[in-house]
Amino acid sequence: MSEKRLTQQLLLPDLRFVKEIHNPVKKIRFIYCEKVSDFEVCPHCATKCTKVYDRVNLTIKDSPIRNKNVFLVIRKRRFKCGSCNKVFREPVGGIRKGFRTTQRFRDHIRWCASNFANLSSVSATLRCSDWLVYKAFYEQAELELRKYKSPWPKTLGFDEHSFLRNQRGAKVEFVTVFVDYTNKRMKEVVLGKAIGDLHCDRIKQIPGREKVKNVITDLSPTFRSFVKDFFPSARIIADHFHVVKLMHPLIHQMRKEVIEKLGIEKKRKNPIVILLLTYRKKLQYHQRSALDKFLKLAPELEELYWYQQKLYRIYRIKGYNKAKKMLIQLTDEMCKSKNKRIVSYRNTLRSWHEEILNYFSTGGLNNGRTEGYNHKAKLIQRCAYGFRSFKNYRLKLLYCCR
Ligand SMILES: [Zn+2]
Repeated sequence: MSEKRLTQQLLLPDLRFVKEIHNPVKKIRFIYCEKVSDFEVCPHCATKCTKVYDRVNLTIKDSPIRNKNVFLVIRKRRFKCGSCNKVFREPVGGIRKGFRTTQRFRDHIRWCASNFANLSSVSATLRCSDWLVYKAFYEQAELELRKYKSPWPKTLGFDEHSFLRNQRGAKVEFVTVFVDYTNKRMKEVVLGKAIGDLHCDRIKQIPGREKVKNVITDLSPTFRSFVKDFFPSARIIADHFHVVKLMHPLIHQMRKEVIEKLGIEKKRKNPIVILLLTYRKKLQYHQRSALDKFLKLAPELEELYWYQQKLYRIYRIKGYNKAKKMLIQLTDEMCKSKNKRIVSYRNTLRSWHEEILNYFSTGGLNNGRTEGYNHKAKLIQRCAYGFRSFKNYRLKLLYCCR
């Protein structure tokens, strides 16, 4: 590398090296430099100026070199315009007007803020204020996210999670996330989960919504009506975990009733809870026989148990037609039941019939990625000890899941 290119990379492209003062105790380098140019253009009237009025020294913080803080001491010329008589300072590429830090340093803050454990360690390492770290991080994160702007993908998933809690700890605000399955990243974050919140400007501005082919959601009627309205050519896929999970509260409730009725001692580590929810083929012989013994005492629970096992089996089938046949068979059987809970569950299955079966025609698309990002979102909330500003939360989330 030539000496000229080396100095250009250490400094900024416009600047010429003059001298360097090194303070080994404080671990600071002051690099003195100046701009070399034949003329400057007046920012007020765009006239070429060559007349130097005076010179000023400016100290600008730059990104550190080998763990030493670097300050660029730039001797800036001030020019006097010939036509409008105004005095102006020469601009330097890489430093925004009115800023005491280079863009390079602000980008370095972003890198540190996303790799260090917390923001206070960033401000301690870079020896700058917490406020600068906070401001520069969100400013640079927004710039970085502009690189990832794209139209709607072919496959999309969405889900909601809680964002704010009130003083009693109840969840009051929700956030809906849109996940891009094609590019494997988070697409957009919206405050609220009602249909009015989803139809916001930020969502409407993204082009190409007619190209979305698959949308994966949980069993939420709001999301379903939103997708039908907003993505005209998309087919909805009900996430299989949520379909199966709907039955779990019914089973738990019935199990508790049975235990109370029979006067069985309540044990915290009663394995029957897990045995009831597991796919039967995964159980060992002794577990199966223990479970059957328990189920014989409660015929109502036994009925529900077998429906659940049938549903599990459906999700292990390959092929749309086979699954469709099995699902219709299951709902027909449920119809005969006298248990009100089973009938209401059947109604849910019936109303989501098409969406459940779409799982089989799309090769098993599921909400796994979305739930993974939800988990990450919770982690981000914990690390920050909660967010107050939705704007910052959205930026941080999109930045971390890009
Ligand atoms: Zn001028």
